[in-house]
Amino acid sequence: MSAVIIDGRAIADEIERAIRHDVSNYCSLYNIAPSLVVIALGKDPRSMSYIRQKTRVCARVGIRDRTIFLPLETPEEDLLDAVCAMNEDSSVHAVLIQEPLPKHIASLKILQAIDPIKDVDGFHPENVGLSVVGAPRHEPCTPKGIFEALHRIGCAPAGRHAVIVGRSNLVGKPMMNMLIQKTERANATATLCHTGTPDLAFHTRQADILIAAAGRPELIKGDMIKPGAAVIDVGINAVDDPSSKKGYRLVGDVHFESAREVASALTPVPGGVGPLTCVMLASNTLAAARLAAESRS
Ligand code: NAD
Repeated sequence: MSAVIIDGRAIADEIERAIRHDVSNYCSLYNIAPSLVVIALGKDPRSMSYIRQKTRVCARVGIRDRTIFLPLETPEEDLLDAVCAMNEDSSVHAVLIQEPLPKHIASLKILQAIDPIKDVDGFHPENVGLSVVGAPRHEPCTPKGIFEALHRIGCAPAGRHAVIVGRSNLVGKPMMNMLIQKTERANATATLCHTGTPDLAFHTRQADILIAAAGRPELIKGDMIKPGAAVIDVGINAVDDPSSKKGYRLVGDVHFESAREVASALTPVPGGVGPLTCVMLASNTLAAARLAAESRS
């Protein structure tokens, strides 16, 4: 079997067109464009690349987008002040804190300070809780993008066994939660594997849908995949490559060449999950702007 390579960019483009249309309607109705503010500490090269992608997507769909760069050594109190200022500014609909944050900042404290209505990353405990009880407001962009892509490639989760590798708050846990909800669009059986899981391959071989989000280069080899499974590779890992101009290349958590021989569908890295994440941020920003408009009327 040779897997269909899932074109994340094409799926993201399709979703983007619908968002552009909805943003345009929002602007006509409320005479203001949805607006997103990203707060970043320092200019970490990987964060900068993600920020640039977000900016491009926002520009294309008509969302106002601004990044506030603060020095890396900004004290926690000053960052909290910056978050509060954005919470109070009614012209700002969505606020996102660029991770990773430096060690002197308590990440959870900052996330909890964001107005949950403006928390388009969906990391505020109130939004996490709403998702868990099946009443989602904002859900994290990466799992939301994967969920949408599964539907669009004809691999609806209902009745399937999804195995997720990685238990981060960013990807693994929210992915698991979305898949197990008792709704027509979800309703999967799910297994979550992590560093404490003995015999990872035993579990991955049972997956109809395998989602790798471990941040370990090429951890999942073809012989760990059930024939015909849909494989979603979330990982983005830089590995040394003297033959490349940059001295490195990006690989996923899945060994692409062996996986494509076994899987029925597979996301590439790059060009798979990444574009979906950015477009979902635009979707959540529009949703936050709608919530703001509803609370005013
Ligand atoms: P993380 O480091 O916060 O979490 C990784 C998880 O994987 C941990 O829970 C850990 O228990 C688990 N893990 C690590 N090694 C394992 C192993 N050998 N066996 C089983 N479990 C293992 O990472 P994250 O933020 O969830 O990101 C994961 C990967 O996805 C990274 O490569 C990151 O760069 C990438 N990522 C991509 C996007 C995107 O848009 N494409 C978005 C977010 C994250």
